[in-house]
Amino acid sequence: MQWTVRLETRTSEGEVKTTELVTFSRPGVVSTLAEIGLMLAETKTLLAKLQASMLCGQVAAYAAHHRVCAACGVLQPLKDRRTRRLQTLFGTVEVEAPRFKVCRCRQPAPLAEVTVSPVCALLTARCTPELERVQAELGARTSFRDGARILEALLPVSPANHESLRSRTHAVALQLEAADRQAAAEITAVRDNTAKAAAADASRPVVMLDGAYIRAVPGHQVRNFEAICGKVEREGHATRRFALVRSVAEQPHALLRAALLDQGWREGEAVTAISDGGPALPALVRSATGGPVEPVLDWFHLSMRVQHVEQVMRGLCALEPLPLVLPDHAQIDVERLRSLLWNGHNEKACEALGRIASWAKDAVVPNEPVAEATVRRLAARCAELRSYIENNEGALIDYGQRSRAGKPISTSRAEGTVNQLVNARMNKRRQMRWSPRGAHRVLQVRAAVLDGRFRQQAIQLAA
Ligand SMILES: [Zn+2]
Repeated sequence: MQWTVRLETRTSEGEVKTTELVTFSRPGVVSTLAEIGLMLAETKTLLAKLQASMLCGQVAAYAAHHRVCAACGVLQPLKDRRTRRLQTLFGTVEVEAPRFKVCRCRQPAPLAEVTVSPVCALLTARCTPELERVQAELGARTSFRDGARILEALLPVSPANHESLRSRTHAVALQLEAADRQAAAEITAVRDNTAKAAAADASRPVVMLDGAYIRAVPGHQVRNFEAICGKVEREGHATRRFALVRSVAEQPHALLRAALLDQGWREGEAVTAISDGGPALPALVRSATGGPVEPVLDWFHLSMRVQHVEQVMRGLCALEPLPLVLPDHAQIDVERLRSLLWNGHNEKACEALGRIASWAKDAVVPNEPVAEATVRRLAARCAELRSYIENNEGALIDYGQRSRAGKPISTSRAEGTVNQLVNARMNKRRQMRWSPRGAHRVLQVRAAVLDGRFRQQAIQLAA
């Protein structure tokens, strides 16, 4: 049996032309399942031929249209015929790009000869925006090599190498970043009072920030560098992710500001920033908003440190026989820590920690090295937690109350932003090493892809 695929082209003038694309053959009566239906290789050929046929036809029509002088309607003389190559999802197509002598009526001087190449003006890039977008999306989702293999496996795309995936991903990242910078530069203050009141009523945007370490390429000054990842959440809006490598981002605060604006935040509105302690991350939020920021210490990170104290205490109590006299308050104090901090009683928590630490520091443990080490560790953990609390004083809240109000108290609720953005693509197990710039760019595309922003934005980017 044979199947022939013919393409019927109808121009806008009503002219019809038929082109034979491909013929597929199979035995008249098949003997195996594998002989039924279209094969991938055939499909690739078909798509490539269809693409070439459509694209060349369109480009030829475009050139013919622009050959006519717009001023006087005369055909401009042909100067020479050249070709241009365009990479597409369905193969590289060589198109004719004729050059025309500019019509006499528009020549700047009688003897001058100016030429135009309309096709070159149309083909502003070496590839179609769609190919660039698909390559960038794959490059953000998986390794450049795997992405290239996937494309090559399914489509007649060319070139299907990891270098082109990398460069397209980088190019798209630059476009995304530029779009964010532009959005961030727009003035969007809440002007009138009604709008202001409405804004105050609406739930406040919450920024959740966390850091992740990425292995640096050999030869880089440091072994690891930090990427800042986060989410902006607001009721009634789809979550928006963002990520950046501070040292190479052109305007780190602009990326966060664009994310906030996207969530309906307006200049002057307060923002809640949940992070894991340390002033750097809330400071980034402050520079993005230029206004009031309510910092909240991530409950998860605080809770982890409480757990360290609890664990050492449990270890100590489990020693048989207990080699020292544990004062009555010690165990109770440790048990209370979590609920004190949960309910915002930080001073009481610090007092309790102080009591345990001062006892543990001076406790006498005769001839029991294991017990002695445990007691000293308890003192150290308590001191650590206490200074963590004191350093983050302004960011400790009544977590219980906030949680009961249904508001986020932890970056871990922004479940796995770091995992999704960084670890799944730049994970240490993958043995990948990154330059800060390369990581930063992949993160821009990856955040957009995971948000679902990428496809919408791609249309604007391509325009
Ligand atoms: Zn003319």
